[in-house]
Amino acid sequence: MEKLKNLDKIVNLCKTRGIIFAGSEIYGGMGNTWDYGPVGVELKNNIKRAWWKRFVQECPTSFGVDAAILMNPRVWDASGHTASFSDPKMDCKNCKSRCRADNLISAHAKGKVNPDTMTNEQMEAYIAEHHLCCPNCGKCDWTPIRQFNLMFETSRGVVDDSSSKIYLRPETAQGEFVNFLNVQRSMRAKVPFGIAQIGKAFRNEITPGNFIFRTIEFEQMEHQQFCRDGDDQKFYDLFKQKAFDFLTDLGIKKENLRFKDHDKLAHYAKAACDIQYNYPMGWDELNGIHNRSNYDLSRHQEFSGKSMEYTDPFTGEKFVPNVIEYSIGADRLTLVVLCDAYDEETLENGETRVVMHFHPAIAPFKVAILPLQKNLSEKAKQVYSKLAPHFMCDYDEAGSIGKRYRRQDEIGTPFCVTIDFETLENDTVTIRDRDSMKQERVNIADLPQLIASKIVF
Ligand code: ATP
Repeated sequence: MEKLKNLDKIVNLCKTRGIIFAGSEIYGGMGNTWDYGPVGVELKNNIKRAWWKRFVQECPTSFGVDAAILMNPRVWDASGHTASFSDPKMDCKNCKSRCRADNLISAHAKGKVNPDTMTNEQMEAYIAEHHLCCPNCGKCDWTPIRQFNLMFETSRGVVDDSSSKIYLRPETAQGEFVNFLNVQRSMRAKVPFGIAQIGKAFRNEITPGNFIFRTIEFEQMEHQQFCRDGDDQKFYDLFKQKAFDFLTDLGIKKENLRFKDHDKLAHYAKAACDIQYNYPMGWDELNGIHNRSNYDLSRHQEFSGKSMEYTDPFTGEKFVPNVIEYSIGADRLTLVVLCDAYDEETLENGETRVVMHFHPAIAPFKVAILPLQKNLSEKAKQVYSKLAPHFMCDYDEAGSIGKRYRRQDEIGTPFCVTIDFETLENDTVTIRDRDSMKQERVNIADLPQLIASKIVF
């Protein structure tokens, strides 16, 4: 309960501090959509940058792409999404609200049964036996469960008929798969190698979102490792470790993370697991790691009629590589970062300090420039101009210095630079550390180097 209250506080802080707003708010909002504000866009961009640095920049055998959101609809036949990318839904006959049967069962069973392994009939029987009622109106009068495809449809061109039907991509992965040979040939890549992408995906989710945990439009950060059959277990283990290390290096507490193997595997999958996070609403998925055999490339070979084979340059052997997929939602990771960094500290004077202990590399602003009094603003603006080319800086001259420190703590700014009268005399400032609240006097000339050394990821 206490943790859930924290989620309310985080949502509220996000709104008042320009991190995340409800989507289309002035029109009453639109379910499961959120807009990132001036502070939030920095946070999410920094998270994406940190991920890209770790999984592309620092990996000589990984290559980035940015594929189109709208793809040839045959792609979704090959991937299996048109046939079976669906959730089990039922409607409340009383209030007409729609509900996911599997989520209703999970919330009730608290891990004792796994709805992913149940048929629709088994789920209906469980719901009847345990008298699971509508979360909206409290009545227990459900329609039978139907599978509901999660892909958003749209049409291209002027004629709206079935031949013009296309989809907003429900995952980014297919953009990496269809470009496998383009990347391999243009970059002269040798298997094993990886293709990574960060991009938007869309799913017609009807479940209430728990803030940005589950939204209908979201960004995925994905890395597909192409390898030989036989090497796949090695890369599966490697990416499990790399995915976990990335999170703990970002500062996420180890005790809030755990691996969870999938109970039910797709017929082609050799292994699959999630890393779960202990959210305010309980343990749930943060990212997935899947050993997908050579299913994806083989399906594209079958449906496109184009060979997806790789030729080993040394042996001449031809084969369709296996894929180890690692996929994490940028928005879901942003939620994890917010929940994990949020802290309420009681100060010596009894006041409460709300502080976001973000890793400095992903903090929205690296430094805030604060003139002690307004008549020091000219000097303070000179300091701002010196630092702004290097880092995202905030400038604030409104209110008492104590209040300004609190505001920066709430958005997780790791350093506050205060300009006082001594600054005018000897070009020194105080720099305050967010976490320890300790202050140090330093030369303005040393600031860029000093701050840069403390924000490395
Ligand atoms: P879930 O079980 O939560 O619906 P999934 O297993 O369908 O997720 P994947 O298809 O494996 O998810 O997608 C990879 C990652 O993308 C997830 O681990 C999650 O971080 C993110 N993700 C998936 N769906 C959503 C969504 N609707 N909103 C936000 N992030 C999402």
